[in-house]
Amino acid sequence: MKFNTKTIHGGQKPDAAYGAVMPPIYQTSTYAQSTPGGHKGFEYSRSGNPTRQALEQAFASLENGNYGLAFGSGLAAIDAVLKLLKPGDEVVSTSDIYGGTYRLFTKIFEDFGIVFHFIGMENADIIEDYINSNTKLIWVETPTNPLLNIIDIGAVAKIANKHHILLAVDNTFATPYLQQPLDLGADIVMHSATKYLGGHSDLVMGALVVKDKDLADRLCFIQRASGAICGPQDSFLALRGIKTLHVRMQRHCENASVVATYLEQHPKIEHVYWPGFKNHPNHDIAKLQMSGFGGMLSFTTKGNNYKEAIKIVENLKVFTLAESLGGVESLAGHPASMTHASIPREEREKLGVVDSLIRLSVGIEDEADLIADLEQAIG
Ligand SMILES: *Cc1c(COP(=O)(O)O)cnc(C)c1O
Repeated sequence: MKFNTKTIHGGQKPDAAYGAVMPPIYQTSTYAQSTPGGHKGFEYSRSGNPTRQALEQAFASLENGNYGLAFGSGLAAIDAVLKLLKPGDEVVSTSDIYGGTYRLFTKIFEDFGIVFHFIGMENADIIEDYINSNTKLIWVETPTNPLLNIIDIGAVAKIANKHHILLAVDNTFATPYLQQPLDLGADIVMHSATKYLGGHSDLVMGALVVKDKDLADRLCFIQRASGAICGPQDSFLALRGIKTLHVRMQRHCENASVVATYLEQHPKIEHVYWPGFKNHPNHDIAKLQMSGFGGMLSFTTKGNNYKEAIKIVENLKVFTLAESLGGVESLAGHPASMTHASIPREEREKLGVVDSLIRLSVGIEDEADLIADLEQAIG
């Protein structure tokens, strides 16, 4: 099945009871048994729920995996991956990752004795310098947030393979429409389904997809034992969102390209971070491993003035000033004061998250309205 068919039919079949085309919302915590243990595949909704199962199968199908797992948030999904580890284990992680991931790693899992190395991975070879016998996981986020650097997943997978280390890729920004990490050699794909997979800014959810049965069993055990599942109503909404993923992503990519090109020539703009530009340092690998450049971009203004950046995001009218990304509506954010406020300033600036940096999640509105809005806000 091709991707654009999978978004609609992947892992799905009409409901066995009445042939409902959309999986019904099984709003139930438990299931009747005819005799102790005599059930129809579901016992208790933390362990399994038919609506969630339909969604998990859809996740697996989209990412070319064999097993999908749905969680109550993206961070709950990451939390489950980290619970594969033991005290003393080490993780090599992309440095400019989602702020909440950084917080989870450093403020929660460091206290449980996990050791993290945060490095730029645009040159994958450098990863080997941080690998030792305790290294159990490589955590990659690409495109990175918010600077849109691109990491060569295939090159990292080779290193992970050679050293028998798990490779997990946060595929939230690219989505499986643009990038399929499992096909490039990753072991685990993670999503904040809150973003493009859900696509309508109406739910919070996380996803994991893997190929390997053993790994799936371990993660399923953690999902059930820790219990950070999502409910049937949200599972239904995510399933509905996924059905238009391919159409939405196509328009996100087109609009982002128009916005990036507009900003690039604006006299007040210092720099535009968008992997579609030929002079983007990782443009070649972006072209190779992604089928489009996505809907995210960031820019800085000349003079790097904090107050001016705040004024621009406050002036925007079509773009909504808000955290999050990946919905049909355009959003603008100021990482230094919002998504990355939890990263100490010194660390932040080292990563390039300077005071004037503004991040845009370009939605699927008419491109003319988006350009006009930026024009009036930047002045
Ligand atoms: C939002 C986000 C997360 C966290 O997901 P939640 O659903 O908010 O818990 C992780 N990674 C990336 C890239 C994100 O954008």
